[in-house]
Amino acid sequence: MEFLPLFFQLRATRVLLVGGGKVAVRKARLLTRAGAILACVSPDIDHELESMLQRTGGEWRMARYDSADLEGVTLVVAATPDDAVNRQVAEDAGHRHIPVNVVDSPELCSFVFPSIVDRSPLVIGISSSARSPVLARLIRSKIEALVPAAYGRLAAFTGRFRDEVKAVASEEGQRRRFWEQVVNGPAGELVLAGREAEAEALVRQYLERPTEAQPVGEVYLIGAGPGDPELLTFKAARLLQEADVVLYDRLVTPEILDMARRDAERIYVGKRRDRHAVPQGQINQLLLDLAKQGLCVARLKGGDPFIFGRGGEEIEQLASHGIPFQVIPGITAASGCAAYAGIPLTHRDHAQSVRFITGNLKSDRVDLPWGEFVSNQETLVFYMGLQGLDTICGQLIAHGRSGDTPAALVEQGTTRNQRTLTGTLASLPAQVKAMEVHAPTLLIIGEVVGLRACLEWFGEAEKPTSWPPNAGADGHPVGWKAEDDGV
Ligand code: SAH
Repeated sequence: MEFLPLFFQLRATRVLLVGGGKVAVRKARLLTRAGAILACVSPDIDHELESMLQRTGGEWRMARYDSADLEGVTLVVAATPDDAVNRQVAEDAGHRHIPVNVVDSPELCSFVFPSIVDRSPLVIGISSSARSPVLARLIRSKIEALVPAAYGRLAAFTGRFRDEVKAVASEEGQRRRFWEQVVNGPAGELVLAGREAEAEALVRQYLERPTEAQPVGEVYLIGAGPGDPELLTFKAARLLQEADVVLYDRLVTPEILDMARRDAERIYVGKRRDRHAVPQGQINQLLLDLAKQGLCVARLKGGDPFIFGRGGEEIEQLASHGIPFQVIPGITAASGCAAYAGIPLTHRDHAQSVRFITGNLKSDRVDLPWGEFVSNQETLVFYMGLQGLDTICGQLIAHGRSGDTPAALVEQGTTRNQRTLTGTLASLPAQVKAMEVHAPTLLIIGEVVGLRACLEWFGEAEKPTSWPPNAGADGHPVGWKAEDDGV
């Protein structure tokens, strides 16, 4: 993170604005909205700026900038067309440790102005760290559409009760639950509907019994989808925001984990460097223990929790102890990878059915009915199939599926690292051996693979930040080469 977003209290403080043109006017509008008293220095001044200064108790010194102008100011903004002046301001401010912004010169700034969605007292700032203001503005317009003006009222409403709530609920978690109950519940809805008196009555009721028996926690078994954070459902994103603790494994990308609350505890329960996974029984127990402490626990699972995710086992134990839980479906790897690789899983003419199969042949319990997989009208999707690729392709051919059947291996599907290798049942194992392949990978077999109209490999973009979570310095997962990644 290049810039830490902070919100500055400027009310009645003196801010120096160097420059008096149109650019200065834009900054002056923002600064005065936050209550700053402007001291403007410039040989000439835009008339809008001049009247703004008059209205807001600011002043204009008709002169060129002088370092003495920095005396007693909280913040300085340089908005002149003169590079040398701007540089001088930045340098002088630097010496005096005064935060400085030089318009359009990020390298001279100690702070930048974000794009703002103003629902005061709720304020949202969006910054691209000065890389792409246009993108920041685009995102801003989306957020403008997403956050109704009434949210400002809700923020103001809750602000009125802050001290009272603090007095009755001294512990932080207790306070947070109180506010969640208000904001997410009927009281919040009443405020949004403009019925504040009724909302207040409800909050007063809550205030009278704030320490009511500690609620039992809840577990959300959340499908995080195959990698692209945008493939999360709204519900998954919302509950992820509510959780106190997040348990995740290695199929969950850092971008998704980042969507959890800042202060939520994050617990990694995937396979470690030594490739020993936290035993399933231990995970089940951990979920139970955390929920019993009254915590909201998000169990994030790659793809869909009920597809090769052992989600069933995790909730069984919760159910038997009466812990409330919710299961939030996710986009499974087959859907995500197929869509992003341009392979339709079914097709009127080529495949009337699709089968999801575990390719984890190491387990003694897996004995696949190969004879059932021979219809060339069916698409086969093998999860966890990388290590057993030779066997899978060999067995399918041995049981009568043509060696010419198109087959694809999708590597790190839906992430920026996605690559898709296509071949046939006969050729794919050798093709894969000839290259370095990184888990997770999904194997798709059937005529539908031949419909893929794109290049053989695509999505060869830069490597993402660091995915999977245990990526080594080169961005490749440590110790994963051609490893199976079953769960
Ligand atoms: N519950 C998950 C599957 C867990 S099994 C789901 O519904 O998707 C783990 C296997 O899923 C991996 O071995 C791999 O075969 C597949 N997989 C998961 N994410 C993937 C991805 N982004 N790209 C390719 N395969 C993936």
